[in-house]
Amino acid sequence: MQRCEGCMAYQFYPRTICSHCGGQGLVWSKVSGRGRIKSFTIVRRGISRAYEAPYVLVLIDLEEGPCMMSSLVECDPDSVVVGALVSVAFQSWSSDIEMPVFKLV
Ligand SMILES: [Zn+2]
Repeated sequence: MQRCEGCMAYQFYPRTICSHCGGQGLVWSKVSGRGRIKSFTIVRRGISRAYEAPYVLVLIDLEEGPCMMSSLVECDPDSVVVGALVSVAFQSWSSDIEMPVFKLV
């Protein structure tokens, strides 16, 4: 995730300047991959074969601060609750694209 060398804040999504202080000294930094569910919705009608329903779209409050939209995988959609702990996993979408998704801890 991007981190500002000036104010040390993390930000997501990537930008050309720091969204906290306007600094331009941004570097890539490893993060924990952990967070909590801030909000979610259960999609019960898939838009294509690539999105088999039901599936869970989540907003994750990452431990480092930023909020990230993603998918919650390998879970019973009806058991998902706000505040649940999650950790990142990666789904292969192609030979060169890995997408971050989350699993319940
Ligand atoms: Zn900054």
